[in-house]
Amino acid sequence: MRILVTAGPTREYLDDVRYLSNPSTGKMGFTCAVEARKAGHRVTLVTGPVDLDDPKGVTVVRVTTADEMRDATMKAYRTCDVVIATAAVCDYRPARRAKGKIKKGPVRMTLDLVRTPDILGEMGAKKGRRILIGFALESQDAQVNALEKLRAKNLDAVVLNDPSSFGADCMDATVLSANGSRETFRGVKKQVLARLLVDLIGGTR
Ligand code: C5P
Repeated sequence: MRILVTAGPTREYLDDVRYLSNPSTGKMGFTCAVEARKAGHRVTLVTGPVDLDDPKGVTVVRVTTADEMRDATMKAYRTCDVVIATAAVCDYRPARRAKGKIKKGPVRMTLDLVRTPDILGEMGAKKGRRILIGFALESQDAQVNALEKLRAKNLDAVVLNDPSSFGADCMDATVLSANGSRETFRGVKKQVLARLLVDLIGGTR
C-alpha cells in the first residue's frame, strides 16, 4: 500500500526571525514511516522542521509552515491508500508576517492570529476508500475529545496521548477505533506503537 505520514511541528512566523511552534520532535511520525517501510509499503513522509535524518527508502518532503504542510500533504494524498497523521500542526498563525524583525515597542503588544488549515480534517472530508489514522493530544476530557475528533475528521482510528509524549521514547496511549474497540498502552515504546498501527492497517491486528 501507499502510506502517507505527517510528522513534526510547524512554525508560524510573526516576522522573519520569530515564530510560534511546539516541542514536537517528529519521532513518532518518523518511526511510523520506518515501520511502514519495513512492512513493505511505499511511504511518503511530510515533515515539519525536525532534527532527524531521512529514513532509508522513504520519500521525504520537508516543510516549515502549516500552509506548506497542507499543500505537500494534499498533493501526496491524491495517490495514497493510508494516512497516519502524527504532525503537531499549529492551530493558529499570525495574521501577518512582518518583514525583517519587529522592533521592540510598547510594554504591551497584541498578536492577531488566524486559524491554519485542518489538514487531516480536509483529508477526512475527501476520504474515499482510504484508511485514516489520527493522533489526539489531549490534556482534559481526553477520551470524549478524542472520540469527537475521530467522528469529526472521519477517521478509522485515533491515538490518544498527552503532552508528556513530546520527544519521549515511550508514551501512554489509547488507540480508539471507529469500530468501537479501545486499547490502552502504558509506557509503550514509540516503535512498538508504530508497528501496531502498521499492523492495524494491514488488518493483521
Ligand atoms: O484537532 P487536533 O489538532 O487535535 O487533531 C489532531 C490530529 O489532526 C492529528 O492527527 C494532527 O496531525 C491532525 N491535524 C492536522 N492539521 C491541523 C491540526 C491537526 O492534520 N491543522
